Amino acid sequence: MMNFKQIKARYDDCLKQKYALGAFNFSTSDAAKAILLGARNVQAPFLLTTSPGEMNHLSPEIARGIADGLDKMRKGVILHLDHGKTYEDIVTAVKAGYDSLHCDGSALPHDENIKLTKKAANLAHKRNLWIEGEIGHIGGSSTLHKDETTEKIEMVMTDPDEAKDFVEKTGVNSLAVNIGNVHGIWKGGKHIDLQRLADIHAKVKVPLVLHGGSDITAEQIAKAITLGIAKINVNTELRIAYTSAVRTALKDENEFVPTKYLPAAQQAVQAVVEEKLKMFGAAGKF
Ligand SMILES: [Zn+2]
Repeated sequence: MMNFKQIKARYDDCLKQKYALGAFNFSTSDAAKAILLGARNVQAPFLLTTSPGEMNHLSPEIARGIADGLDKMRKGVILHLDHGKTYEDIVTAVKAGYDSLHCDGSALPHDENIKLTKKAANLAHKRNLWIEGEIGHIGGSSTLHKDETTEKIEMVMTDPDEAKDFVEKTGVNSLAVNIGNVHGIWKGGKHIDLQRLADIHAKVKVPLVLHGGSDITAEQIAKAITLGIAKINVNTELRIAYTSAVRTALKDENEFVPTKYLPAAQQAVQAVVEEKLKMFGAAGKF
């Protein structure tokens, strides 16, 4: 559990020492534990995150309970809502005791995004919580799109001037941007516009967030961190690691014991988490 001041200190440290926090989604307790074990193994700070779909699958209270359990294994766990798209999503997470929120009004017209995010930011700040906003629609879904390229995705890139206006009007503490970082893994990869990121960074003073962190090269990540990225979201690669390991283990049709087929999934998730945290420069920073 972390309060606003502690979370702010984390982001400030990222900007100062040039690394990014890994933000990892989970939808089961063993995946959450794998994330904590990975972060602990490489001594890195991280965020434990659920989208509304993942939060509601577990129930928000159980998601909070899992985070509290992990916090006993290593202090400083941040439970973060990922892509809260309505005010109700935000309220649900606040009521359950989330530490940090992402209000994603990016699919709305600019003015409506400002209105929703400002309302969410007011609630967050009243409760001493961190809030991330989003401008420029990232799109895609957190899974493997092996036969599709990103060309057909409706994508709105973040405009630097709009981003500045948005942060000033809403009071968000961090900002998710779209520079080609579509969610998921795609045939032909992603096209990351680092010049656009540099232009946003020159105008926006809050820490920046990169969603769709699966399948972005180490070189692009390193450059993005020098341009203000302080948090990188990873979901797809964890889902693939977890599900592939379960699928392999269940090829044995006589296997019915979860404690026998789930450890492989946990180890696979942990390995991805460790690799990402090293890539983000976060290893050794906790
Ligand atoms: Zn995202």
